Amino acid sequence: MNHDAIREQLRTRIREVLERNAKIEGDLRRERTPLEADWDENAIVLENDQVLEALDADNRALVARLHTALARLDAGTYGRCVSCDGRIAATRLQAMPEVTVCIDCAREAEESRGQRR
Ligand SMILES: [Zn+2]
Repeated sequence: MNHDAIREQLRTRIREVLERNAKIEGDLRRERTPLEADWDENAIVLENDQVLEALDADNRALVARLHTALARLDAGTYGRCVSCDGRIAATRLQAMPEVTVCIDCAREAEESRGQRR
């Protein structure tokens, strides 16, 4: 698997989330946010709390997962299931590059959630 391509994909996703959010914010305030000039910088340096605070809970969680995936790429643990240490299928990673569990563990988690209800 090409890690540079994955990294690029993760960064693009982060940027998309932020751009979408900036657009919503801009519409709400009827003004353009000053963020757009340097999207790459913003996306990468985005430990910036103000940027994160502007996101709603779902998007913030997604950005956090994308960041985790980038960190896992750096650590060399990307593509390994955090639950069973098995390999996560490449097709699954392509569809959702931010996932940290394999399909089996995801299903198990899904089932135990269902049982608790
Ligand atoms: Zn697993």
